[in-house]
Amino acid sequence: MSVLNSFQDFIFNGRETSEQEVEMNSEIVLEEYLYKRSQQKKWTSPVNYKERLFVLTNSRLTYYEGRSEKKNKKGSVDITKIKCVEVVKNGMDQVPCQNKYAFQVVYDTNTLYIFSPTPESRDQWVKCIKKGIKNNSYILPKYHPSLWSDGVYQCCRQTEKMAPGCEAYNLFEVNASKPLPPTPDAKRRPPPPLPPPQDPVDKQEGDIAIAMFDFHPVEPHDLRLTIGEEYVVLEKKDVHWWKARNKYGQEGYIPSNYVTEKKLDNLDQYEWYSRNMNRNKAEQLLKMEDKEGGFIVRNSSLAGMYTVSLYTKYAGEGSSPIRHYHIKETQAFPKQYYLAEKHVFNSIPDMIDYHKLNAAGLVTRLRYPMCPNKTAPTTAGFSYDKWEINPSELTFMKELGSGLFGVVRLGKWRAQYKVAIKAIREGAMSEEDFIEEAKVMMKLTHPKLVQLYGVCTEKRPIYIVTEFMEHGCLLNYLRQRQGQFNTDILLSMCQDVSDGMNYLEQSNFLHRDLAARNCLVNDLGVVKVSDFGMTRYVLDNQYTSSCGAKFPVKWSPPEVFNYSKFSSKSDVWSFGVLMWEVFTEGKMPFESYSNVDVVDMVTRGERLYRPRLATNRIYTIMKACWHEKPEGRPKFCDLLVAIGQILEGEF
Ligand code: ADP
Repeated sequence: MSVLNSFQDFIFNGRETSEQEVEMNSEIVLEEYLYKRSQQKKWTSPVNYKERLFVLTNSRLTYYEGRSEKKNKKGSVDITKIKCVEVVKNGMDQVPCQNKYAFQVVYDTNTLYIFSPTPESRDQWVKCIKKGIKNNSYILPKYHPSLWSDGVYQCCRQTEKMAPGCEAYNLFEVNASKPLPPTPDAKRRPPPPLPPPQDPVDKQEGDIAIAMFDFHPVEPHDLRLTIGEEYVVLEKKDVHWWKARNKYGQEGYIPSNYVTEKKLDNLDQYEWYSRNMNRNKAEQLLKMEDKEGGFIVRNSSLAGMYTVSLYTKYAGEGSSPIRHYHIKETQAFPKQYYLAEKHVFNSIPDMIDYHKLNAAGLVTRLRYPMCPNKTAPTTAGFSYDKWEINPSELTFMKELGSGLFGVVRLGKWRAQYKVAIKAIREGAMSEEDFIEEAKVMMKLTHPKLVQLYGVCTEKRPIYIVTEFMEHGCLLNYLRQRQGQFNTDILLSMCQDVSDGMNYLEQSNFLHRDLAARNCLVNDLGVVKVSDFGMTRYVLDNQYTSSCGAKFPVKWSPPEVFNYSKFSSKSDVWSFGVLMWEVFTEGKMPFESYSNVDVVDMVTRGERLYRPRLATNRIYTIMKACWHEKPEGRPKFCDLLVAIGQILEGEF
């Protein structure tokens, strides 16, 4: 006997299903947070409406309190005991509950009133339960189409709760106010109802921002942000720190990368959207969560395109459990969006909402938005206009390593924020120049750059305070874990670096010493570019002069070791060498050859060999970075796209 994939199959595949088969199959049919009105209370009060997780299986309608990890069963109805399920008509505007689309489930001597967030959701529940009860031995001949509230049925004003219904009940008709959305196999049914058009002239739209992360003020002029709350943006003079007002009228500065514009087409405000997730990371997350219908919407490697990555446990033997669907757009203006051609929507959120309820051509419906642990991004400094840090607010902890400038320690700022603190050794740095430049460097803020938070310059030694990266430098990270990486993981490390470098290139900022030793890895395995521009402040001649013993010749193109001609294209050459370091899991480029030999070899046109873990396509990218002439090398934006395409499996 075949076990049904889902109740939708049971409902929509048109074949008869035996009682026994239904009993055996406790597959979840629908699952959603809905509101339930308390059955005991007579008076309508907001406290009598509770959010519950409703789960419909083939045999029971059960509701739970709390979130899925720690849910507490509050009640359960045997499907065979249900006598009526129907949409509730009228009077919803008086209901003190945020979900306005009610339906009722009559069983034994009780009526459950349940409130859905949308008409589509409500109609789907009614339809599924109706299908489930179609073979029940007792179905009501008449029912009450409106609510029982304040001691009367609002439809017929009868005051007896057990009073017989006042309108004929037809189990096979869905009494919805709108036509039902099409079902997965309903090829000839009309497309789903489109959402009402948005008012195009909403003057306030651009001025309202929604917090994507909590922000705790560190100075009196800052404003606290609470995730999900709205703020009026008052001033954007500093791109990183906007002035805003909260709903209580309080004003202050907020980090601009913690909020997103409230606009229908701005996907950042939705939990299912993960802008920077690549295919590999999406697959890892979906597999790890292992939830039927788990999904993520993410940016595609093709500029301006989005992909829905969807997980199913029932892909069939030999098929991948994960499908990636490009969100397609119609040609005509205004653009419309679709995953399945028959179901076209005015916006991506509308499209996602629809497919939450209907697979409609997808391998399963979009059941669970998967949100990666969205850790708050770094801010450009700890607060608005703050770059000088008071050293008495720093706590020094264990040593992390030491480099050209001195010892680096783990530390805490104001006993709370973990940071890395570099104590600059006397005579190692041209300090005045650096301090001047630090203000500019602090403004470089990107998820793939190690953030400079501030400096302590009043006393000696001066300290440089940066974002702490748990796994330390990329070179050691690779060497210590040799044999543990596959090609995709290595390539996504390169993607992180190209992303950070693309930002530097766009900001007209040169790194000048890009190499695996100058990238760091955090606890999530994200690789970030560090020490950008810092070689300009090194006082050691052996490092700065191209014939010095410490000069990074093996990472340098001919125009740099010959004429010290740095450009973003010389950073691109170094990036190619960094890719090689990554794919050899931390080997030294040109192994035992001296710098003089390497100059000779590279000048003669020799290049590093293809590492075993790099495919031909990946090696082609490296070689493009090592084009003899700077103008023949790609830009970081091209590299980012090329790497993204390989990770997306588009080659
Ligand atoms: P320098 O710039 O003086 O050459 P580095 O930046 O290379 O010093 O730092 C030396 C070492 O300290 C690194 O190899 C790394 O192990 C550790 N380190 C530096 N910065 C951080 C950081 N932000 N988080 C964690 N470890 C760090």
